[in-house]
Amino acid sequence: MKTVIQIAKLVLGSALFLLGAFFILVHVGRGCSFGGIEKSKGSVPSQPTALSQPQLFDSKKALQSKNIVPLVVIGSGPAGLSAALYGARSSLYTLVFEGRTPGGQLTETTYVENWPGTPKLLGAELINITRKQAERFGAIVIADSIANVDFSQWPFLLKTEEGHELHALSVVIATGAKPRLLNDTRKTPGEKEYWAHGVTTCAVCDAPFYKGKKVVVVGGGDSAVEEATYLTAYAESVIMLVRGPALRAAPAMQARLKEFPKIKVLYNTYIEEIVGDKTLSVTAVKIHNVQEKKSQVLPVAGVFLAIGHHPNSDIFKKWVTTDKEGYITLTSRNQHTNVPGVFAAGDVSDKVYKQAGVASGDGIKAALDAYEFLQAHGYNESFVKQIEKNYFDPHPEADTYKLRKILSVKDFEKLAQEHPLLIVEVGAEHCASCKTLVKTMQSVASQLGEKASFATISLDDSSQELIKRFNLKSVPSLLIFKKEKLSSRYDQQLFSKRELYTMINQLLADA
Ligand code: NDP
Repeated sequence: MKTVIQIAKLVLGSALFLLGAFFILVHVGRGCSFGGIEKSKGSVPSQPTALSQPQLFDSKKALQSKNIVPLVVIGSGPAGLSAALYGARSSLYTLVFEGRTPGGQLTETTYVENWPGTPKLLGAELINITRKQAERFGAIVIADSIANVDFSQWPFLLKTEEGHELHALSVVIATGAKPRLLNDTRKTPGEKEYWAHGVTTCAVCDAPFYKGKKVVVVGGGDSAVEEATYLTAYAESVIMLVRGPALRAAPAMQARLKEFPKIKVLYNTYIEEIVGDKTLSVTAVKIHNVQEKKSQVLPVAGVFLAIGHHPNSDIFKKWVTTDKEGYITLTSRNQHTNVPGVFAAGDVSDKVYKQAGVASGDGIKAALDAYEFLQAHGYNESFVKQIEKNYFDPHPEADTYKLRKILSVKDFEKLAQEHPLLIVEVGAEHCASCKTLVKTMQSVASQLGEKASFATISLDDSSQELIKRFNLKSVPSLLIFKKEKLSSRYDQQLFSKRELYTMINQLLADA
């Protein structure tokens, strides 16, 4: 009896298998291209992917849409730029929205030593090279951010911070991650109050403000070790505060610590409070050793946080699935999200490896996935011919305004006397978000003409006298002077062009 049942099961199983195979063949044979679009000879695989949703991917909608982009990459770190490189090289019209920190976290690191084939290169340089490579194949990098998305319709609707609306046929989310703060896990008095006034997450940007001073680095991972070693070139001493009994950094990084006698590591220690003075400068940290159950006050001028990151996935959460920490979940070993046509790459979807090389590999896979998705849905030369007239054209306006350079207090005083409204950006060469702020300022200045004066102070070539005069502790910083007096300042804050334009117009109206 048992054998009869087994045979029956086998026959039934085989029949179902054959039926399934027939069903797949019929569908594969038909394909499910954008309706009515001819496939170009040889360039399009004849089978749709398992993701086909013909009712959603209606070619008529694409043909009727304005501002079409076959591949939009959101983010310009190693994942985004690698996706752009592969997308553009596959002849997809590819736009990259670089976001508020062009180049991402890698631009805030020092040397990268584990990028295969490149023994040692500055993170920012690695980004520049990759960006140029992507641009050489036709990718267009746009100084704007995606503010909002609607993945319930196809083509996907994307809105930028500068107010543009575009329709993407496929999207790669490569928005990376932002640094974690102490307050995210434990309320730490002083962190918010002295943010950008002694508390920071970017040693590469802010280390020069701490020449000859004592600082602490919080964290025990690779980033913390990197920050600590970088700071030794400036600070008098660096104390690493590690909350547990051991470092998490890779053995090679831990070994490097021994080469820096200026660095001391305190284990089992966390910050209870960050203490400062009336001039808004950090003066000390109150720390607590959990093993000895003892607290003490360490006099320091700077607190550098290197305690991990949060994925930048907020604007996508309504549409794509994320885990409880906010990482975008991938459906398999590819870069597919739960929304067909939307892919994710790099730290926004990687909670395990978080390496630049892995992010780059993810980006490559995501672009290949996007290409396959488009082809499987009938994207071909003839379709391109029909839609290319409707492509989104980024039209960068020529920014004609030449920002003044302030090198000394004398330069500053002269400019402030000449213009009742003076707007000054304080930046540094190795600060990616400073470059964004300069671009934003330049664009707004070009729109406003000579109604206000715009200038920059670079940490790399300005005098210590200037740094002291404005109590500068962090970059980027935006200082606004009305009739020679500092009327407001924005430390480590970025603006969209629209925000800055509105703010300055308001100041002009109030004057
Ligand atoms: P990690 O998550 O690796 O390390 C975070 C560190 O911060 C840990 O020591 C953690 O302690 C500590 N920490 C977390 N929260 C707190 C808190 N609230 N208070 C005090 N300490 C805290 O993050 P990283 O940014 O260092 O690295 C992220 C990834 O990037 C890693 O995969 C790393 O390998 C990679 N990376 C690689 C580099 C390179 O190869 N050159 C350079 C920089 C980063 P605990 O261990 O107790 O959890």
